[in-house]
Amino acid sequence: MTISDHTQISGSQDTPGNPAARLIRAENIIYHYGSGELAQQVLKGASLTVESGEFVILAGPSGSGKSTLLTLIGALRKGQEGQLEVAGTNLMTCRENYLRLVRQKIGFVFQQHNLLGFLTAQQNVEMSLEMFDDYSASERHHMALNMLHHVGLGDKAHLYPAQLSVGQKQRVAIARSLVHNPQIILADEPTASLDSKTGIQVTEMLQKMVKEQGCAALVVTHDNRIFSYADRILHIEDGRIF
Ligand code: ADP
Ligand code: MG
Repeated sequence: MTISDHTQISGSQDTPGNPAARLIRAENIIYHYGSGELAQQVLKGASLTVESGEFVILAGPSGSGKSTLLTLIGALRKGQEGQLEVAGTNLMTCRENYLRLVRQKIGFVFQQHNLLGFLTAQQNVEMSLEMFDDYSASERHHMALNMLHHVGLGDKAHLYPAQLSVGQKQRVAIARSLVHNPQIILADEPTASLDSKTGIQVTEMLQKMVKEQGCAALVVTHDNRIFSYADRILHIEDGRIF
């Protein structure tokens, strides 16, 4: 299927519970860093799809192109070659203001929690709602608290990151990534800094969000302790997905 500039793709609408909305379609993605003689091709025709309600793991060795692909899908990096449709938008051809709208439909979870130390857990979560004009201060407050309850930290909302364990900080970061009910969760090695038990708790929580909210998750990891939580496991090696 070819689509024109920022067209909504039929069948990729977001209503949770809809059968199989295709939320990510990447086809033959090619990406280089650098140019000319120094150009390094890191993605060499990578293809994948993820549908609503799916928890998909992308596994592969360090340097295989996982983070590069994730930042392309998350509209954090401009594509070079191939086809890439995310949440109904063609990222290869759409204008910058549409990229912003796509980013608002995505929740990013990174290996490092990146919480702001001078804000409480609650304020950190609220902050990610500030890019939307839709919510009043009291709505933001309520939504953040609700999401912290959801990740089992309702009683820690008033604490600062330094007062939380590593696992609790990662759960706050996940609450911050998901508080705006994204259609797509993109997680880059979310359990890498966690011990085994906490890593599994965090993964279970992500999986629960996918199943409850009908969103889609693409989780990059080489943590084989969490493979059993995936609906599908894709392998990437040297810029190609198998
Ligand atoms: P992974 O996440 O699987 O470890 P990356 O996508 O981070 O892989 O990196 C793939 C390759 O691209 C690696 O060889 C890495 O050194 C290189 N690379 C990553 N980011 C940059 C960058 N900003 N500039 C140049 N090379 C990069
Ligand atoms: Mg990486």
